[in-house]
Amino acid sequence: MTILEIDNVSYRYKNTRENILEDVNQTFESGQFYAIIGASGAGKSTLLSLLAGLDEPQEGHILFEQEDIKQKGYSYHRRHHISLVFQNYNLIDYLTPLENVRLVDKKASSSILIELGLNPNQIKRNVMKLSGGQQQRVAIARALASKAPVILADEPTGNLDENTADEIITILKKMAKERNKCVIVVTHSKQLAQSADVVLELKDKKLQIV
Ligand code: ADP
Ligand code: ADP
Repeated sequence: MTILEIDNVSYRYKNTRENILEDVNQTFESGQFYAIIGASGAGKSTLLSLLAGLDEPQEGHILFEQEDIKQKGYSYHRRHHISLVFQNYNLIDYLTPLENVRLVDKKASSSILIELGLNPNQIKRNVMKLSGGQQQRVAIARALASKAPVILADEPTGNLDENTADEIITILKKMAKERNKCVIVVTHSKQLAQSADVVLELKDKKLQIV
């Protein structure tokens, strides 16, 4: 089922003349794991911001379940449809993993963190005492706790070694396959792109299936 759609989108930053994205079209399905690749500066992060409702295209539409995200409003879209995962995890550093997850779901239990591979001892610690890979697991647990059907991730393995990156990629893929999430990841990593169901390359202002 198509859950998210980019419909003829063109975009340029304010105070700049040239479009960064031009007539971009793409549909995204639930249960699928997408990688968006492309050279540095190609516009990958910009595209992710548009999908997240953090910015607005000058032309075209972003649709969630066939409806322009403008209709219910961008903040509604950000709160209910999507969750974001970042390269630097964006956790609240003076809280524990469970406290971080409870910021999005007050009733969340530690089982969600255990399922993602943290042990009970780690769950009670301050998140800053965890390794990068463990912190990224907490960030993904928080994304899951939000119950959003779409997970948008910007370089989620960018700060991790190859083995840890592999574990995080496996988890993201599992989210798509076992929980029917639509997972869209912007990445430089060939390792990650190889695991994706669909690889999209942003090049010359267009998005193309590789
Ligand atoms: P990528 O994620 O593929 O590296 P970005 O989406 O970050 O690319 O950036 C695409 C282009 O837009 C780059 O040329 C970048 O310098 C430019 N850009 C990004 N953010 C802004 C901004 N706020 N104002 C003006 N130009 C920007
Ligand atoms: P990434 O590593 O994801 O490609 P960048 O390092 O290019 O991101 O950009 C980091 C932040 O700076 C982003 O929020 C982006 O929008 C902003 N940015 C990038 N290029 C420019 C620019 N030329 N002018 C203003 N802001 C920019």
